[in-house]
Amino acid sequence: MNDPSPSTDAAHLRFDIFTIFPSMFTGPMDESIVRRARDRGVVSLHVHDIRSSAQDRHRSTDDTPYGGGSGMVMSAPPIITAVESTLEDDSPPPRVIIMSPAGRLFTQELARDLSGSRRVVIICGHYEGIDDRVRSILDAEEVSIGDYVLTGGEIPAMVVIDAVARLLPGVIADHSVTEESHSHGLVEYPHYTRPAEYRGHTVPAILLSGHHANIAAWRKAEALRRTRERRPDLLTCFPVTPATSTEQVDAASAGSGGSPGIPATGG
Ligand code: SAM
Repeated sequence: MNDPSPSTDAAHLRFDIFTIFPSMFTGPMDESIVRRARDRGVVSLHVHDIRSSAQDRHRSTDDTPYGGGSGMVMSAPPIITAVESTLEDDSPPPRVIIMSPAGRLFTQELARDLSGSRRVVIICGHYEGIDDRVRSILDAEEVSIGDYVLTGGEIPAMVVIDAVARLLPGVIADHSVTEESHSHGLVEYPHYTRPAEYRGHTVPAILLSGHHANIAAWRKAEALRRTRERRPDLLTCFPVTPATSTEQVDAASAGSGGSPGIPATGG
């Protein structure tokens, strides 16, 4: 996979991905929003096979760990050679990311931060991981997509690319990305579409009212209620203002409608 780079200096984010399984990117990166971002020239993907930079005749990219122990470790030289032969004198220098379960947690904030870059290099590990000198030589940051261990860094890399690509201007509607989960430290309110009643489950009456202010207030209360219920850890860093007090959350979640301005949920 090797997208053309744009001929103009238009806003554009180039991803260079280093992997021993380049074909894993075919398919997931060819559909939906990432496809659209690539077609519009907002994003380009360049997938590099680390094995092409291996020096020995077996094209080895891993070796046994110093100090003993099980498993194999991805060797530094093929990765460093592959990355360095790809990078030019970029200014500003690219962000270099190593996917690792031991890294900093990937969040919407980090996705937004990366979306402001011109070039992002992502290195995908396998086996026990990557020789740590790759991190220090390339001044790379390690990033984890969650507190669990996957087989390789390709799926995590695709998670990062997808989350970043959809934030780029013109890829999806602006309000979709400014109002969704994690954009303001909360998870999003629930969504409904037709029919208004299905198998005895009704849509909250407020959403059928056409009263925009009440709907906005209900959505805010629902977002707070759901965050409190599912992700109370997020509320510790949420700035509670008079308009978004915990009393309002309690009133909304009790369904009592007891707080002025927060209509009771229907259905
Ligand atoms: N021995 C490593 C450890 O305990 O931290 C786990 C290595 S894992 C089996 C192999 C590769 O998968 C890693 O080098 C990394 O690239 C990728 N990987 C696995 N889980 C990940 C996660 N949660 N986030 C990002 N990358 C992950």
